[in-house]
Amino acid sequence: MSADYNVLERAGRTGENHEFLLTPGPLTTSKKVKAAMQRDWGSWDQPFIDLTAEICRSLVDLAGGGSEFVCVPMQGSGTFVVEAMLGTMVPRDGHCAVLVNGAYGDRIVKTLRVMGRRCTVLKTAETDVYDVAALEQALIGDKTISHVAAVHCETTSGVLNPLTAISEVTARHGRSLLVDAMSSFAALPLNVCDLPCDGMVSSANKCIQGVPGMGFAVLRRSTLEASAGNAHSLSLDLHDQWVYLEKSGRWRFTPPTHSAAALVEAIREHAAEGGVEGRGGRYAQNHRVLVDGMRAIGFETLLSDEIQSPIITTFIEPNDPNFTFQAFYDLLAKRGFVIYPGKLTAAPTFRVGTIGALEEQDITGLLCAVREVLAELNVRDASPRRTTTAAE
Ligand SMILES: *Cc1c(COP(=O)(O)O)cnc(C)c1O
Repeated sequence: MSADYNVLERAGRTGENHEFLLTPGPLTTSKKVKAAMQRDWGSWDQPFIDLTAEICRSLVDLAGGGSEFVCVPMQGSGTFVVEAMLGTMVPRDGHCAVLVNGAYGDRIVKTLRVMGRRCTVLKTAETDVYDVAALEQALIGDKTISHVAAVHCETTSGVLNPLTAISEVTARHGRSLLVDAMSSFAALPLNVCDLPCDGMVSSANKCIQGVPGMGFAVLRRSTLEASAGNAHSLSLDLHDQWVYLEKSGRWRFTPPTHSAAALVEAIREHAAEGGVEGRGGRYAQNHRVLVDGMRAIGFETLLSDEIQSPIITTFIEPNDPNFTFQAFYDLLAKRGFVIYPGKLTAAPTFRVGTIGALEEQDITGLLCAVREVLAELNVRDASPRRTTTAAE
């Protein structure tokens, strides 16, 4: 590793951290975000009511929702708010077309089936974007389809799906679009009015750089108002959560007070960084430095550059027999860099996230560590191709 890069010192900049999380979440957060959790909040008290109101107001603004949209927070991990949005917005006799090119699209299908909602699956390869023409055919061919569900950045591979084209087709055929923007919101432009969509969800612990414990939905007010009684679940009923919040300023059931306090600080830091443009710009730079550096070492990315998001990047495992993911992972972790295993059915891969409180010099530090680890493992060739000799 370069003499002037000290991972302990750099990671320590973000709190008591000894390492960087180069993952899709939980991810590295700032010192101030963690410090915001150093007090207890009464869920009934005015300070926490004000804090919740600030979160909801800021997130509607960030999503470009104006007065037509409202924000409803939800306790739990990201999946809880995805399930809550689907269960609340899709009526029990609704029919949802789900675009799938990875594990999170698959999870939407599974969620709808568990809830007993009818769904139609529109699948493309994990290494490809959604098929907009196939969606249009499905909407023309089946008038019972009431909703379309899509994942913006499919974190399984890091592919960025063509959300604008999807929303254009969905709107033209008069259906309702629901978006899982979990891993893209706050880093990539998304405007719920311009898109348009009826609902969008994300969590406190992805690009907004808060801590885990809560998610949020930004929903069209008129559609939400009409959704009373849709939900299959009491705790995951966003209509009920919203009505209670409107009436009292309070959450139904125990709120994740510390997570919410951290989120307020994270939202302020996001604004101070220059909003979506500033944050997205930093991630894009992290991503560029990572991909250029890994390619220089010999690694190949799974996706072509045109469909790759700056959020998380999938690399194909080297073909060199001395390479094993576990050893590579362990030795990188020992040096302070935690990467992520692959989640693809197609090829052996690993993933590196470029989101969270990371800067270009941390990516450069990671690249130095990768070179050291490959040398230690005696991996000479990081490329995924089989080296063929003239004799073969
Ligand atoms: C992270 C993520 C989720 C939610 O995952 P949890 O583990 O429940 O927080 C959902 N969709 C996408 C696209 C994600 O990246």
